[in-house]
Amino acid sequence: MREGGVVLSGHMDVVPADGQKWTVDPFRLTERDGRYFGRGTTDMKGFLAVSLAAAERAAQVNLQRPLHLALSYDEEIGCLGAWDLVAAAKASLPPPLAVIVGEPTSMKIVEAHKGIVTLTTRVIGHSVHSSQMHKGVSATMVAAQLITWLEQRMHELAQDKSPSVFEPPFTTIHCGVVHGGIAANVVAPSCDFVTDIRTIEGIDPTTIELEYRHHVETRVVPRLKAIHEAANVIIDRRSHTPALEKHPTNRASQLASELLGNDGSFHAVAYGSEAGIFQRAGFPTILCGPGNIEQAHKPDEFIEQSELLLARKFTNGIIHQLRTT
Ligand SMILES: [Zn+2]
Repeated sequence: MREGGVVLSGHMDVVPADGQKWTVDPFRLTERDGRYFGRGTTDMKGFLAVSLAAAERAAQVNLQRPLHLALSYDEEIGCLGAWDLVAAAKASLPPPLAVIVGEPTSMKIVEAHKGIVTLTTRVIGHSVHSSQMHKGVSATMVAAQLITWLEQRMHELAQDKSPSVFEPPFTTIHCGVVHGGIAANVVAPSCDFVTDIRTIEGIDPTTIELEYRHHVETRVVPRLKAIHEAANVIIDRRSHTPALEKHPTNRASQLASELLGNDGSFHAVAYGSEAGIFQRAGFPTILCGPGNIEQAHKPDEFIEQSELLLARKFTNGIIHQLRTT
């Protein structure tokens, strides 16, 4: 197999449709007024369909360089599946010219996204009657202090006004879920919360994670243990999605702008994807795929037929390039 091929990559999993108000069956494709409705149509079964159709066409012609398909699983829960996929690709494929991750960008070329780490923090308290709280450790109140520390850290990071391609142009630290406590008059025995850290260029999300772990280990846990030995704080990393970094010469971006007749404008997005994992392996990578991210993860998710046609034109261009050069 020759080097210089093109990888079309997408994830096969979708987010759940449970609890959402759909007017069509989310798991049966419905066509209406030039739109295809169904869970995953835009994120990102539409691109998968275009890629499989492209592979079929590519198999019928003589390619000078290969077209690769890289299909992953468990993307929606934190890009878990792509690590093994990319490691296997690096070990077995001759270096490709470009990786196109077909997340729904409305066929715009996206050259950068934030890096993301998600963490679960479990605070183990010491439960006593709330009238005796000086003898206990309230897991919910410790969790509140940690969440405030994280928010404070975000405000400090936002003070750095160096230019960023992202909106918002600073690192965000968000706690989306908290569970803890049992009653008003019981010192909470445990509390769990989930945090996501989204960093701008120049900051690795794992650095913020390390700062947080250091704070917990040196400042918080000793204070809790002084009250009760069993009290503790346990931090687990749920996922790590490396950033897709803008490079002055990204060959994947050059290829896509040639084929799409792009004016050279590039885009940055605040959501994560598998693209950063490919880029870390040394592959020139962009995001570019049919459908609007606005439709993703929502009830009545749909993709415009016109978007799929644009994507087909794009993959036809890729096949043409692979045949002739
Ligand atoms: Zn996606």
